[in-house]
Amino acid sequence: MSRTTQLFELQQVDSQSDDLLRRALAINHALGDAESLRSVRDEHAAANAAAVEAQEQLRVISHEVDRLSAHLAIQSKRLYDGSVKNPKELVAIEHDVASTKQIRATHEDQMLEAMELVDQRQATLAAAARALELAETEWQRSQDGLLEEKDSVDSQLRVLRTRREKMIAEIPWADLQLYEKIRKAKHGVAVAAMVNDICQACRVAISGGPLRTAKQGQEIVYCPSCARLLHPGARGELVRG
Ligand SMILES: [Zn+2]
Repeated sequence: MSRTTQLFELQQVDSQSDDLLRRALAINHALGDAESLRSVRDEHAAANAAAVEAQEQLRVISHEVDRLSAHLAIQSKRLYDGSVKNPKELVAIEHDVASTKQIRATHEDQMLEAMELVDQRQATLAAAARALELAETEWQRSQDGLLEEKDSVDSQLRVLRTRREKMIAEIPWADLQLYEKIRKAKHGVAVAAMVNDICQACRVAISGGPLRTAKQGQEIVYCPSCARLLHPGARGELVRG
């Protein structure tokens, strides 16, 4: 295998590892991140608070209706059981009964409205609970998927690491130093393949002497534009894994 092909294949392994490492980082970032659930959780909490509030309103009004009914029962009894003899007092009790009935009627109307509000808010809460459950199930499914993918990424990285160790044992020290130096300076890409005589790293057409030498794939040739090492690209025996 030629010097440039060795480096080209090493580049393929390293680029693949870089992609996988980026993906592993993104997966780690997404694992346990429940930010996407926040709005649906907030909506559920708000619906719950609104339902509790409506129930409390209904409880207060019902309590008041009960209190008025109890008062009416006592006053009605006093009106008819002969315990009150004073006519003025009897008239006063009659007035009290009449006005209490009016007030209670108003409260009963309010109670019906409060019951309707409770029904509405319970329905909203039930819908919010369903939406939350759905979102949490979906979230858990995506977390499970991420965990599975993480396992796969980790094992692919291990395979590539082993392959890399074998590869670099075969590469002359000076070539490896050159490769690492350029890779560091050029965003991880030291060796660029050519497709239709175009450097795939910088998209500039290669011509003349450099093109001829690079196409032979034996000697080290730098791209005149991006200064990476040029390689004829993945063809025939160069394609492996
Ligand atoms: Zn280039």
